[in-house]
This record gives sequence, C-alpha cells and structure tokens, in this order.
Amino acid sequence: SDTAPTGLDLPRTTEAILAADGHLVQSWADLNGLKKPGARTAIVAAKGTMVRDSDGNDLIDGIGGLWCVNVGHGRREIIDAIAQQLSTLDFYSTFYTFTHPAAAALAQKLATLAPGSLNRVHFSNSGSVANDGAVRILHHYYERLGRRTKKLVLSRHGAYHGSTYLSIAMTTPPYSKGWSKAEGIVHHLKKPHYWREGADMTEAEFLDALIEDMRTQIEHLGAENIACFIGEPIMGAGGVIVPPAGYHKRVQELCAHYDIKFVADEVVTAFGRLGHFFASEAVFDTQPDMITVAKGITSGYQPLAATLMTDEIHEVISGPDGVFTHGMTYAGHPAAAAAGLANIALMEAEHIPERVRVTGKLFENTLRSLGDIDIVGEVRGSHFMMGIEFVRDKASKALFPEALNIGMLVARKAQEKGLIARPLGHILILSPPLVLTEVEIARIGSILRDSILEVMRDLPSLNR
Ligand code: PMP
Repeated sequence: SDTAPTGLDLPRTTEAILAADGHLVQSWADLNGLKKPGARTAIVAAKGTMVRDSDGNDLIDGIGGLWCVNVGHGRREIIDAIAQQLSTLDFYSTFYTFTHPAAAALAQKLATLAPGSLNRVHFSNSGSVANDGAVRILHHYYERLGRRTKKLVLSRHGAYHGSTYLSIAMTTPPYSKGWSKAEGIVHHLKKPHYWREGADMTEAEFLDALIEDMRTQIEHLGAENIACFIGEPIMGAGGVIVPPAGYHKRVQELCAHYDIKFVADEVVTAFGRLGHFFASEAVFDTQPDMITVAKGITSGYQPLAATLMTDEIHEVISGPDGVFTHGMTYAGHPAAAAAGLANIALMEAEHIPERVRVTGKLFENTLRSLGDIDIVGEVRGSHFMMGIEFVRDKASKALFPEALNIGMLVARKAQEKGLIARPLGHILILSPPLVLTEVEIARIGSILRDSILEVMRDLPSLNR
C-alpha cells in the first residue's frame, strides 16, 4: 500500500494489522466484545476531514479523531514544524533550571489568548493529567497558605475529566463502576441537564435549584474544606450537556462567595470548537482561576495538555517556601510545543474560530433538524460539539433497553455509509474537524437521517 511511512515495516493488510492488534489493550472498550470478528476498525491514513480504513474505505471523520483534530488531518504546516523542531532539538525537559524555546513561546502565546490573568502555564501530556495536576497544584497552593483543610473537589454527575486515579474520581460515578477510585476527595453536584432532569420546572427555576443544591452541599461540607469546583463548560463525554444559560456565571459567583477556586476543563471546548480559542469568557462569561486544555491545542498531532493558572496562584506557589514537586518528563516536549504553536498559527491565519461561528452553527442546525425523527429525543450541543439522544417514546422520554445498544446500531449504519460517529449508550456524539465544508455538513446530515431511519425500520424485529 502507499500509506505506510517509509522506513517502518508496518503490517499492511487488515488481517495482519488485527493479528498484531491482539496484543494491544484498547482504551475505554468492551475488551470482550473486541474479540469478535469485525469488531475493530484499523485506520491507516487521513487527510483533511477524511480517514481511510485498512479495507480502503474512505470515511468522514465525524469525531475529529477524539474531539481533537480541529484543523483537519495532514496539515503540512504542523507536520513540518514538528519535523523542523525535532531536527533542531529532539528533546529536552522543562525540569529544574531548564527550558527551551518552543515550550517558552507556547506558554507565552497561551497567556495572550487566555482570559483574565491566566498568564502561567504548566504543561503535561493529557487532559487527565492536566486536571489531576490542577487539583494537586491547588492543594499545594493552600498548603503554602497554611489552609491545610482545603482539599475537597466539587464536580458534577455527568462530568468527564479523565482516567487517572483522581480524574476518574472527578468523572461521573458510573464510569468508574468496577474500579477503585480516589474516594472521599470528590463530591458530585447535580447534572445540569434541563431536558432530562428539569421535571416540571422552568429552565430558570431549574437553574435556581442547581445553585441551591450547590450552596447546600458547600454548607454541608464546609467551605474551609473545599479546594475547588471543576467543570466542563459543556459536558462532553457525559452526553454533550449544555447547562442552562447563566449557570457557569452563577457557579463562579458562588465559588467566589465561599472562596473556592473555579477550574474550567476546556479540554474539548477550547481551540475553536465553540468558535473561540477559549469558551470560558467568550461564551460563558466566566473568568476561571484555572483552565485545563489538551486535544485541540495541537489538533491531536502531538500529545500535549496544559494547566493554566492565574498570576495570583503562581505567586503563592513560587514563593520562597520550597520546591514545586510536580511535573512529567515530557511536559512541554519540544515536538508537542512546536505542534501547538504551528496549530495556533494556522488557526489564526485561517480565522478558524471565526469561521466556526458560521459553519459550526450550520452544523448545529443541520443536526437539530433530525429532531423530527420519531426516536430522536433531544439534539443538543453547540457548534461542532453535538449529541443526539435516542428515545423509545418521545413523550415520556423513555429509553430503549440498554442491551439494544441503540447508539451503536446507528453508528454502525453510519459507518457503512461513510461516516464515523461515536456511540455512547443511547447517545450519538459528533465532534468533527472544524474545517468541514457546507457540502460535507449536508452529507453528514443525510447519512445520519438515513442511518437513524433504517435502524428505526429494523426496530420491530429488534423488540422495540
Ligand atoms: N477532560 C475532558 C473534558 C475530556 O473530554 C477528556 C478526554 N475526552 C479529558 C479531560 C481527558 O483527556 P485525556 O484523554 O487527554 O487524558
């Protein structure tokens, strides 16, 4: 095949790839289900908004790799920047007294793009680690201030913050079913999902109830014991939940009132997905004390994450009371930092966030138009971050039996028709590259409509 890079003796046929793959432990997968023939898809090449599987099928990448390939695949500008950086300086760390130009320049660039006084940047390698680090850094911050009881974290049901020991504890509880987690530190507030949880309240009443619940929990736990609130501006892997208007601002006000730090997990929402480099201020009118980012920071070309903090937090942790004992070998890796710089430069040159405000809205509206289908309960999200929730009965919002795996049925049909979408139980998630054309957006809309209708037609035989 012409797709294997020169110099690497990679398996080429589907059979050879899957034979080798028997040794790979996939992430977030039904490892037993993966043993079935045909369960796995090997992706061998990608260009623009398309990927190619090992059987030669070209598919629209409706999930942008994993909510991350924001500028599309195969962009020369980023690849060249990585290659150039590696040939000048392949690796040096940012430990001890060392630094290097790429990490320094990217930190400076992020400080100019981030809201408020989020001028200090600690790099890591994944969103999970950036979130874990945020809490760890805040614990250290409070230690230095002599406020040693401030350890607890407020998260929400429905959150996804990663899969390290602490970040999975901050994630929605069912995701850690069957696994141990960092018990005791994290408390989960209510999921801010009006359509499912709003009962007979108005949206404004529902918002009041969420804030009241948060206030009650804070009073119960004691503000002197709480380090921070952490939240995604729009919940992603928890099912693309957009909170009621004004929610984040009210949460931040409550945090400020009780002297609790407000951490925004922008791993998905930053770098253009909602039409801005950062969504916290531009979309949600908040000024977090910390923002964590990953994914879109390099558009996935290199693994990179960052924990941004205010000058005030940095001032405390850089005081004279000892060493900052935190950090990973590859934090700010030269190749990753170069990828981040080239990716941001490309986004600026092509005005990608601004374009998303138009094409992302078109995408959103195209998906919303699927709401007329019988089994589509709610289409939700914003711009290029969308979810479709399927229901057995629209009026009662009753779900299909879990074992039917309705999301997977629709995702399979869509893949047969040339689109990768991500099933999540009874929800289907779309988070494509931000450079989709109008024609591709229309095509995604029609593939999804056809796929859902076909699954619906088959449902009587599937015991609907
Ligand atoms: N936070 C959010 C909002 C995420 O969506 C994810 C990953 N999907 C993470 C954190 C964890 O990032 P990573 O997988 O890079 O560790």
